[in-house]
Amino acid sequence: MLQRVKMRERLWDFVIIGGGATGVGCAVDAASRGFDVLLLEQSDFGKGTSSRSTKLVHGGVRYLAQGDIRLVREALKERGILHRNAAHLVKIQLFVVPCYSLRQKVFYGAGLKTYNFLSAKYGFGKSKILSKKETIEKLPNIKPKNLRGGIAYFDGQFDDTRLLTNLVITAAENGATVLNYAKVFELSKNSQNKTDGVKFQDAETGEKFNVKAKIVINATGAFCDSVRKMSDENAEKIIAPSQGIHLVFDKEFVRGETAMMIPGTTDGRVLFAIPWHGKTLIGTTDTPIEKIELEPKALEEEIEFILSTCEKYLAKSPKRADILSVFVGIRPLVKSANAKNTAALSRDHTIEIDESNLLTITGGKWTTYRRMAEDAVNQAIKIGDLNTEKCVTENLKIHGFCEDSEKFGDLEIYGADAEKIQKLIKENPKLAEKLHEDLPYCAAEIVWATRFEMAQTVEDVLARRTRALFLNAKAAIEIAPKTARIMAQESGKSEGWIDRQICEFKMTAANYLSDRVQNKE
Ligand SMILES: Cc1cc2nc3c(=O)[nH]c(=O)nc-3n(C[C@H](O)[C@H](O)[C@H](O)COP(=O)(O)OP(=O)(O)OC[C@H]3O[C@@H](n4cnc5c(N)ncnc54)[C@H](O)[C@@H]3O)c2cc1C
Repeated sequence: MLQRVKMRERLWDFVIIGGGATGVGCAVDAASRGFDVLLLEQSDFGKGTSSRSTKLVHGGVRYLAQGDIRLVREALKERGILHRNAAHLVKIQLFVVPCYSLRQKVFYGAGLKTYNFLSAKYGFGKSKILSKKETIEKLPNIKPKNLRGGIAYFDGQFDDTRLLTNLVITAAENGATVLNYAKVFELSKNSQNKTDGVKFQDAETGEKFNVKAKIVINATGAFCDSVRKMSDENAEKIIAPSQGIHLVFDKEFVRGETAMMIPGTTDGRVLFAIPWHGKTLIGTTDTPIEKIELEPKALEEEIEFILSTCEKYLAKSPKRADILSVFVGIRPLVKSANAKNTAALSRDHTIEIDESNLLTITGGKWTTYRRMAEDAVNQAIKIGDLNTEKCVTENLKIHGFCEDSEKFGDLEIYGADAEKIQKLIKENPKLAEKLHEDLPYCAAEIVWATRFEMAQTVEDVLARRTRALFLNAKAAIEIAPKTARIMAQESGKSEGWIDRQICEFKMTAANYLSDRVQNKE
């Protein structure tokens, strides 16, 4: 990919900064319309918020409560499109809302009927009012005292970075040049003071590049203000960052395959408990923060909040020692003049085109990445010297598409690529070896990620190509040495590289262990 940049003589149509859902979505959109695209990510694809979501492809039941019908309808349509185009990754998940009064049953019952109604032809199945007995059957670990029943409904679930990786490959298959570990540190301007390119640095070699483009898209999520300031040092901040944490536990805390949704926690948020890759994912919180970091830290009070909310609803509720992993994401919420706290800010996306034609796209959510990209590229066509090409992503199958991927067992998540991983194992049966008894991954997946998915570090493999770090941080630390050795063998790295990788991974992984949290001060 770097070679392509070095050999490029013409300008690019698009340079896109940021390799999360938004930037990669823009790269897929623009490349599939036939434009020349260069995507630059400062760290690994998905290192930012896009690896740290609740893993829901959803309309947002919460926004329904806020009366934002248009937003919910649009997101439900996107949910349906994504399910159709990435059938191997987006699964229909049954959720149950436990109800402790008749009022709740009527209120949530009506709300979720509307939710289903709004999905129109993209519906995932009808919602249903459940008796107390039926609710307990679906949620065997729910506290039965005062339970009046529940509401069952369907939504989408996915693995965020698996989808992201497949989108990166889709962009590349459509001709885009995609680079991770390429940080943009400056924008360049032409004589009319219009942004006409970027300067970036390859993190591995330190080499600096100066590339020119007709349009530069700033898709850096919560970091977008820093890039806006590269264009206009007086630009006012538009992001009001808040963080959300998730805790991961063993499966026993949901038991069964049904997810649970608590619509009204004491901080006014929705809390989900979701079965995910054989574990239970519980979250999320909403805490305004000052500092925007690539590796945000959980606060003690956030962990306490999730544990105490679980205690209210679960018969056997998880304790601190049961936490397998803690992960934190920063919401790229766009400020609105009269909102007092971030929970009330818009999840809708914002496109800003500044005086120099730098196009910033931010806000929104994972579920709506395709629509966000379509809007951004449409705007870019209007302001750049670009041919009017129609968006084709509504019907574009995402790399790995496969309708019956269940047949691949633990490799299901790879969709059509699973057969190629199986072939690696056939050629070298040692690669079938499981890496850890508590994780579903085998050695072939490390080889695959290193050879074909641009994984450069142990963290790339254990956090984002597989989800080991998110599922069980301690287990991930234990398999880091083996992972480093397999990667080194694949890419001809030295013993020194192996040692450094293990050490760096341990440092990052410490943030996912629950005993390494911090107090708010
Ligand atoms: C806790 C939480 C839970 C969520 N759950 C859901 C959910 O269940 N479903 C859903 O639909 N949405 C969910 N969302 C929202 C969704 O995850 C985000 O809207 C989405 O991931 C944002 O993607 P992004 O690409 O805009 O930002 P990011 O993923 O943060 O990507 C921005 C990228 O830009 C890179 N970058 C920054 N500066 C530079 C630079 N100078 N040069 C190069 N690269 C740079 C960063 O490294 C980063 O990788 C959730 C969000 C949070 C916080």
